[in-house]
Amino acid sequence: MEFSKKLQQLPTQFFAALVQKVNAALAEGRDVINLGQGNPDQPTPPHIIKALQEAAENPQNHKYPPFRGVQELRQAAADFYKREYNVDIDPDTEVAILGGTKIGLVELPMAILNPGDYMLLPDPGYPDYLSGVVLGDVNYHVMPLLAENDFLPDYNNVSDEVKERAKLLYLNYPNNPTGGTANLAFFEETVRFAKEHDLVISHDFAYGAIGFDGVKPVSFMQAEGAKDVGIEMYTLSKTYNMAGWRIGFAVGNAKIIEAINLIQDHLFCSQFPAVQQAAAVALTASQECANELRATYERRRDVLVEEAERIGWQVTAPKGSFFAWLPVPSGFSSEDFANLLLEKADIAVAAGNGFGEYGEGYVRVGLLVSEDRLRETMVRIDKLGLFSA
Ligand code: PLP
Repeated sequence: MEFSKKLQQLPTQFFAALVQKVNAALAEGRDVINLGQGNPDQPTPPHIIKALQEAAENPQNHKYPPFRGVQELRQAAADFYKREYNVDIDPDTEVAILGGTKIGLVELPMAILNPGDYMLLPDPGYPDYLSGVVLGDVNYHVMPLLAENDFLPDYNNVSDEVKERAKLLYLNYPNNPTGGTANLAFFEETVRFAKEHDLVISHDFAYGAIGFDGVKPVSFMQAEGAKDVGIEMYTLSKTYNMAGWRIGFAVGNAKIIEAINLIQDHLFCSQFPAVQQAAAVALTASQECANELRATYERRRDVLVEEAERIGWQVTAPKGSFFAWLPVPSGFSSEDFANLLLEKADIAVAAGNGFGEYGEGYVRVGLLVSEDRLRETMVRIDKLGLFSA
């Protein structure tokens, strides 16, 4: 049997291969410290689970959900943007409920591009952006995110040909995998760049709640004119440890939101309404849990950076997200170094080249284990004798 070309073109699921390796090591009884994946390690806060339990009891929620999602969640998303970012969002026309933003990232190119159109993707970047390229039947150019430019793209370095061709640009701050952040001035520059070259912007704000050193991450929607050119995707996966719940949303330009919604109408009406109602509770209830979680990641970040420096590993502290982007010692490729850590120290990290060509030379470390396990990580790495303090 021969199946579609798209199926063959889909990128290998980078994390699936990593999970397999880690599971094989665990099956051998090895004490693996898994810093490879981006799966939050804490449970969903109890008040959100309770809201789900109550909503699941309601027989109304056992029916097909409304096409455009539950009104309460669209309203909660709008209220959340007003409260957190002082941005006005119309719940009826400027919110699309998503079954996790991963889906939205694939639906967007399907919704607004024609086959063969070009998108601009950050490199290194979240690998699933490439799923949107294949399933949307489009092409892409990359924008390098370099340490010397604080992991922001330099629009001056985008060639005229690419500027002419590209129709959609993906950004993500706080950034996976680099831990870089963006400020309002950068987003304002992005809006100008988009207007000048007729580009749609989609900002992935997955780590919007996780900023360090007292700096709250800026929403793209706070930039003047952002709604004229784009949208922002927000997931509950990271902010409230709800990765398994598959719930998020997009806000912004009404035409783009409507295009996403149209695609969704044909794929699935919307999420289980009880999940949507519990998500509305997460967004509107006290944000104490999200604040505590952010502080936990910051403490882990501090431990990791301190311990890395102690063993002589020169690293840059991430400014947000729950990842650290660490340079590999000279003489190693990202993959060789990641393999060495797993084989010789039972430490799983994600090799940087899995995030794109410009990820070579780095490994991504998740701040998703306890402070003690992070200390233990550096003790084990120190024993490999690769760094000198
Ligand atoms: N965007 C980025 C940058 C991510 O790291 C992730 C998940 O790891 C997602 C989007 C997907 O999030 P969701 O759980 O909403 O599908």
